[in-house]
Amino acid sequence: MSALKKEQTFVLIKPDGVRKGLTGEIIRRFEQRDLKIVAIEMFQPTREQIDNHYPKDSAWITRLGEKTLATYQKYNLDAESDFGTTEAAKIGPEIRNWLINYMISAPLVRMVVQGIHAVDVVRKIAGPTMPYLADMGTIRGDFSIDSPAIANKEKRAIANILHCSETPEEAQHEINHWFGKNPPIFDYRRFGVDE
Ligand code: GDP
Ligand code: MG
Repeated sequence: MSALKKEQTFVLIKPDGVRKGLTGEIIRRFEQRDLKIVAIEMFQPTREQIDNHYPKDSAWITRLGEKTLATYQKYNLDAESDFGTTEAAKIGPEIRNWLINYMISAPLVRMVVQGIHAVDVVRKIAGPTMPYLADMGTIRGDFSIDSPAIANKEKRAIANILHCSETPEEAQHEINHWFGKNPPIFDYRRFGVDE
């Protein structure tokens, strides 16, 4: 079979996705699009596992801070009064911390999803990071409405139901991080797709 049919991506159903009872719905939407679930498990992550899941480099952390500042500008909010600073490099670590607290607040479901352009197609099915901007028909657009304006005020991460890798390289890294060096991938032929 062509390697193109076997691109893999990593998906993590976040605490709000699990607690809203959306696990089945999420799996259904991937399978409906002719993607295959080739590994899956519910588990309770440790703080350390989540800390190692999100990048630690200053570029990624500063980007988180910049995205936050962009929201403050767009909605005329006062970053100085919420964070005590307007520096992206100082705001980024705080958002990353909120993210870790959120991700350990309930069990998660981890999975490997395989198929044609799996990385891009899964992100398309999920919808964009900000639920209030997500179109209907996407998971985030159909089941959530959170925005950074309210999440930042409440000092918590945006609740957006699931995480999915952004590039094939990130996917490989995350699959190995969450499933180990030799991930337990199941190989089966999807009826009507693989034959
Ligand atoms: P993703 O790949 O779509 O999940 O988005 P990112 O990798 O950019 O960000 C990681 C996670 O951080 C997001 O899924 C959100 O839960 C959270 N997040 C991102 N930007 C913001 C923000 O501006 N404010 C808050 N409170 N959380 C954010
Ligand atoms: Mg990301």
